[in-house]
Amino acid sequence: MSPQSNGSEPRSPLTLALFGPPGSGKGTQAAFLVEQLKIAQVSTGELFRQEVRRGTRLGRQAKEYIDRGELVPDEITMAMFRERLAKSDCAAGVLLDGFPRTAAQAEALAAFLRGLDRQMDRVIYIKVPQDVLVSRLSGRLTCPECGTTYHPELAPPRRAGLCDRDGGRLVQRDDDAAETALRRINVYKEQTASVVDYYRNLGLVAEVDGLGPIEDVRGRTLATVSQSRVG
Ligand code: ADP
Ligand code: ADP
Repeated sequence: MSPQSNGSEPRSPLTLALFGPPGSGKGTQAAFLVEQLKIAQVSTGELFRQEVRRGTRLGRQAKEYIDRGELVPDEITMAMFRERLAKSDCAAGVLLDGFPRTAAQAEALAAFLRGLDRQMDRVIYIKVPQDVLVSRLSGRLTCPECGTTYHPELAPPRRAGLCDRDGGRLVQRDDDAAETALRRINVYKEQTASVVDYYRNLGLVAEVDGLGPIEDVRGRTLATVSQSRVG
């Protein structure tokens, strides 16, 4: 049950968000959740990477920031997000992965959702200690086609170097290089950690221990969703 719903009102489409520092497992868990809940995954990082690959103006603007491990400015991010949410697959519900990342994005999102007669239903915060983040990011392999992530030791693909889903050739993201990854973790602490407090004050945050096998984290994550109105 959503904290904002008494069960008798008509239900607006589900809106969930996954929070956690870079490497905490958001993308990994998002893939499971959207399959289970039949809602759309909206990953702003993945959207930016697609724009970079296509060589669009937005991609060129975003790349400067991504390469430095910094956040893309809020106006650019919000414009891209609004456009994504207008797509038909978002009508049934969305799981936000890596968004919002600043207080201004959280405020803009709240206003935007209000305009659509929607609201944030639950924020799932995946907690992982910093030393684990660094080792996960330094080994992360990503499929450039679909964004699925792997790790040679922690989450190996069935065939070395190839994506299980579409056979895409796995790559290391440039911004996963040690120095940039550390910068991103610091940017998370400086600009994004406080957004969790914003949602905590609204009574929306469920914390999940992100350590341990992916399947265990998956079970814990799903459990938090069934405590919300989808359960
Ligand atoms: P991770 O999953 O490792 O946290 P993402 O794929 O979510 O990384 O993001 C990669 C990069 O894309 C970020 O370092 C940032 O430059 C940019 N980015 C993604 N989402 C946002 C956002 N909501 N606001 C600003 N920049 C973003
Ligand atoms: P995020 O989207 O939060 O940046 P990812 O889902 O891409 O994080 O995961 C980061 C790296 O850690 C990937 O290489 C992934 O395969 C691996 N990983 C994800 N969850 C776990 C886990 N529970 N245990 C070990 N490795 C994990």
